[in-house]
Order: sequence, then structure tokens, then C-alpha cells
Amino acid sequence: MSQTLKGRCAVVTGSTSGIGLAIARALAGEGASVMLNGFGDPAEIERLRSSLSSETGSNVAYNGADMRNPDQVAALVREAESALGSVDILVNNAGFQHVSPVDQFPEETWEGIQDVILNSTFHTIKAALPGMKRRGWGRIINIASAHGLVASPFKSAYVAAKHGQVGLTRTVALEVAEAGITCNAICPGYVRTPLVEGQIDAQAKAHGLPRERVLRDVILAVQPTKRLIEPGEIAALAVFLCGDMARSITGAAIAIDGGWTAR
Ligand code: NAD
Repeated sequence: MSQTLKGRCAVVTGSTSGIGLAIARALAGEGASVMLNGFGDPAEIERLRSSLSSETGSNVAYNGADMRNPDQVAALVREAESALGSVDILVNNAGFQHVSPVDQFPEETWEGIQDVILNSTFHTIKAALPGMKRRGWGRIINIASAHGLVASPFKSAYVAAKHGQVGLTRTVALEVAEAGITCNAICPGYVRTPLVEGQIDAQAKAHGLPRERVLRDVILAVQPTKRLIEPGEIAALAVFLCGDMARSITGAAIAIDGGWTAR
């Protein structure tokens, strides 16, 4: 194994599942120490943590901070700095979706989506940047979405939060451009994760259609390649962005969306 990130320490929010888990696995596979975060059954999370650590030989820790709570978010970064030694790589990935017409959108769900996706991205960056600046090296990767670049109906909170995340990415990149720190957004289309599997099931139930038909005609209607993206494809780009050959890529919103936003 190449171990290109040996000696680096990473925090990946929302890494008990889906894209975040694939990124945590890939970073640990490259030798980085990793702080996992996210919800789930404590015994299952411990099994995941120890299997990632023994699979990769890297130090893997876990902190269950709720990304809706700014104090817990700041404490997550502080704990990673003391348990792993530093936070060199920060991946803001935690997120969830809610689908509803805007005039019926529940206020608390709107606020929860802003807190988990946009506000936690601000709070982790604020907490991690001083250490990155001191060391003169850092990689911030925000897992936004194709919905950070274009809209779809009924996803107002998510589209607003993801556009906000892309704007924050660009601003931070400009502020730290001379400090050896890059800040980029990855903007995936539909990826095969529990979040999307849940959307397929909900649509199939709502319209009384078979899952395969919902996948092709509803979910993948916007994705020209007509296939779900695998989480490993997102993780491979995240690993590349952490390398020295990506030092000039900053302030970018990079689509991995099967051609969705090319239209
Ligand atoms: P997922 O549901 O598989 O994983 C989400 C993770 O976030 C889980 O670990 C969950 O525990 C964690 N999480 C949720 N709320 C949290 C909170 N309050 N505090 C801490 N952790 C919390 O979803 P996924 O599909 O892997 O999505 C990951 C990210 O990628 C999200 O930001 C999502 O918006 C984005 N994204 C996903 C897709 C897709 O098609 N799956 C496409 C574009 C962008």
C-alpha cells in the first residue's frame, strides 16, 4: 500500500455510513490517522472503528458529536487534536435530506438541515484553521452536492445549505490561499448510499412503482450516465485532493455527477 498520507491526521464528519465512511476508509488506507464521527449503534460503531484500524494499520478514533450543536462540533476538533496530534485534513460530510414543498416545509427540519450541513461546516473550519495555519499545511474538503450548483424542486433547505457550503468553500479558499491550505467542495450526483436507497424506497412507496423503475425514471432522470456513483469514486477524489499534486486546486467546486450539471 502506498501510504501517501502517513503522518497526517483527519476528521471526517458523518463517517459511520455512506460517502463519509468510504472517505475515512480511503484516508486510513493511505496511512492517515482518522477521527470518525456520526450516529449509529455504539457496538456497531466500535466494530467499525476497530475493523478499519486493523484493516489499514492506521490509528482510528471515534467522537459522537452532534453536528447540530456548535459546542460539540468545536469539542470534536479539540479532541481530534489531542487524540491524534493535529487536524491536517478536515472533511465536512455529515448531512441529511428532507423533501417537501417550501410552503409546507417544517421550520425545525429547515433549521436542522442548515445546522448539520452549513453551520457545522463553519464551526469545524473555525476550530481547525488556527492549527492548520500554525503548521502551514491543511486540506479542507466539503462534501456538497450537485445541489450546491443547481436546484431541484421540493429540496429547498438542502439546496440552500449546499449552495451556502459552496460559497463558504470559495471564501475560505481565498482567505488561506497563501497559507499552504486548500479548501474545495466535491459536488456528487446520486451516490449509492443509505441516504439515496431511502429516497428510492420512499418514491417507490409514494408512486406504487417498482424500485428499478423509480431508480431509472425518477432518481437517475437527471444523471446522464444512468448509473449510481459508487462511494469509492468520491473517496478517490478526496484522497487526490489531500496530496501535494493537488496543492493548486483550491476554491473549486468539483462535480462528480455523471454529467448532471453539464446540461
Ligand atoms: P448517509 O445517510 O449514508 O450518511 C450520513 C452520515 O451523516 C451518517 O454517518 C450520519 O450518522 C451522519 N449524520 C447525520 N446527521 C448528523 C448529525 N446531526 N451529527 C453527526 N452526524 C450526522 O448519507 P450519504 O449519502 O453518505 O451522504 C453524505 C454526504 O454526502 C451528505 O452531506 C450528503 O448531502 C452528501 N451527498 C450525498 C449524495 C448521495 O447521492 N448519496 C449526493 C450528493 C451529496
